[in-house]
Amino acid sequence: MKQFQFEYHGLESFSQELSGFKARCSRENITVKMFQIYSEVLDYEKVQKVCSVIGQMFPDVISMGCSTSGNIIDCELSDKITVVCTAFEFPTTKVKLFQYDLSENRTEQITSSILEEARRHPWVKAIEMFFTIPEESTTKFCEGLKELRPDIQVFGGVACSDDITSDDSFVFSGDNGISGHSILILFYGGEDFYVDAISVTGWKPLGRKFQVTKSDGSVLQELDGIPAYEVYRKYLNIKNDENFFYNTLEFPLFYEHNNTTILRTPVASNEDGSVTMTSDIEIGSVVRISYGDPGTILESIRHDSRRIAEFQPDLLHIFSCAARRTFWTLREPTYEIYPFQKISSSCGFFSHGEFLRTNGNLNQHNVTLVIAAMREGKKHESAPVASIEEGHLSKVPLVSRLATFISVTSMELEESNKKLESANEKLKMAAIIDGLTGLYNRKEIQSRISQALLQIREEKFSLIMLDIDNFKQVNDTYGHQQGDNVIIELANILQNEQADGMHNVSAGRWGGEEFMMLLPGMEGASAAYTANLIRKCFENTEFPGIRPQTISLGVTQAKRNDTSDSLCSRVDMALYKAKKSGKNKVVLI
Ligand code: GH3
Ligand code: MG
Ligand code: MG
Repeated sequence: MKQFQFEYHGLESFSQELSGFKARCSRENITVKMFQIYSEVLDYEKVQKVCSVIGQMFPDVISMGCSTSGNIIDCELSDKITVVCTAFEFPTTKVKLFQYDLSENRTEQITSSILEEARRHPWVKAIEMFFTIPEESTTKFCEGLKELRPDIQVFGGVACSDDITSDDSFVFSGDNGISGHSILILFYGGEDFYVDAISVTGWKPLGRKFQVTKSDGSVLQELDGIPAYEVYRKYLNIKNDENFFYNTLEFPLFYEHNNTTILRTPVASNEDGSVTMTSDIEIGSVVRISYGDPGTILESIRHDSRRIAEFQPDLLHIFSCAARRTFWTLREPTYEIYPFQKISSSCGFFSHGEFLRTNGNLNQHNVTLVIAAMREGKKHESAPVASIEEGHLSKVPLVSRLATFISVTSMELEESNKKLESANEKLKMAAIIDGLTGLYNRKEIQSRISQALLQIREEKFSLIMLDIDNFKQVNDTYGHQQGDNVIIELANILQNEQADGMHNVSAGRWGGEEFMMLLPGMEGASAAYTANLIRKCFENTEFPGIRPQTISLGVTQAKRNDTSDSLCSRVDMALYKAKKSGKNKVVLI
């Protein structure tokens, strides 16, 4: 693959330059396949002229492009309309362009058409996308492409304009002209075509987590139940004024989606305390504020540029967030991508959003640098790996150390909070649960009975009181430990009754080997039926080394004029009668 670049300085000079290039192509046997045109200015007329000159001279060649927030040619910024011509050196390499009008087609129609085309063109290895600034979330679009063959790489960018805060943008193609609401889709492939794409942010998460509790599309309303702006005010002291966008740029929100790190940066803060973000963040996402600092970013880029260098690309397509251009303005807009200059020729633009498919999931990023490396033919002998000048990186920046300090401290805090919470939870449980059996303790079951009596007009209920028969003998014959085992077995039977979930039963240890069950919604007769099932179940329980045991049960239904005492005395009386009349039975009063 080869790249030839032109800058548009005027119609006449461009026509001349292009016709000179055409002559060179036939002389040198250069197979031109595609022109990509980038314009920072939303000048429809000029772009149209450029397209028509190309169309006249190269009628069978794809031409397409978009508006940008700055054109990148060989890792430098170009403020002219730039035209990049791509030539293929292998006859097997193919490229094909599709354009979808967003105002005429629904997202599902577009994604299913892309899937269909990808099936019809099995040679496809990469899909490059150029979006105009979308009116709504692109999540649905991204999810719609999940079914693409897993090995197809997808990358691209959202068009932009010189005004980073404006929603105006366009894409265009030689065949369909200019559009403010379209997607361009480029298929690349063929057996000698190779591609690899990466994304780099360099921004690092900082401090504590927040959960998105309220959001609507790209309007982030609440984090942890408080207005999103408050988080920026409280933790970063960023004022709600005209500099909000620039001040928050160093601190976008950082979260994981589809196992990929995503950044979203605030664009504006609104009167109601909500914050408009560059794209949507789903409710429930757990975000952290992240920070960008030059040294840390360069470090990440140097690390990731190695993979690109090792791929030995013929050319690179670069999609870098316009926010990164703003971030680097104090040095140079393309400062961070210089290391790629040494790797191969490149073109691209500063975008309003960046796309990359990772692990089969396509994501829309912000504040991210997406680099697609393309090559025809196999790798050559290992080429030297480009790296950024060491001078910048000899020392870990102070801010990076401080951020690490804050992150580790807050993670430790989170950890000890978690421990405290679980200790608290255990304490709460210990206050209501009986230690030996795991059933409720007497205090809790008493409180549940009082509660049920308060609501007896809305819901009837019954009690079962039960006691192990001749339990002293068990202790005397087999020892206290074996006695405990029998109590635990009985408790398990009651636990199962409780866990049944159908009747919301509560079971508690009343004392010693005596238990109480509260059965909401149940009349005395049904409770007696249940009691009898429990009796039989216990009777048939086998205890290793001990003869089978039995229980006696008293049952009563609560009356409207019952107090806790009258009710418990009655069920106690029922149990007493069961014992008196021979044990191992149920008595209902
Ligand atoms: P009855 O059929 O009339 O209920 O006869 P019983 O022998 O079961 O008499 P009672 O209910 O009065 O005796 C309860 C015995 O249970 C007395 C006590 O030693 C024993 N016990 C109470 N709590 C525990 C315990 O947690 N573990 C063990 N192993 N025994 C206990
Ligand atoms: Mg007993
Ligand atoms: Mg007893």
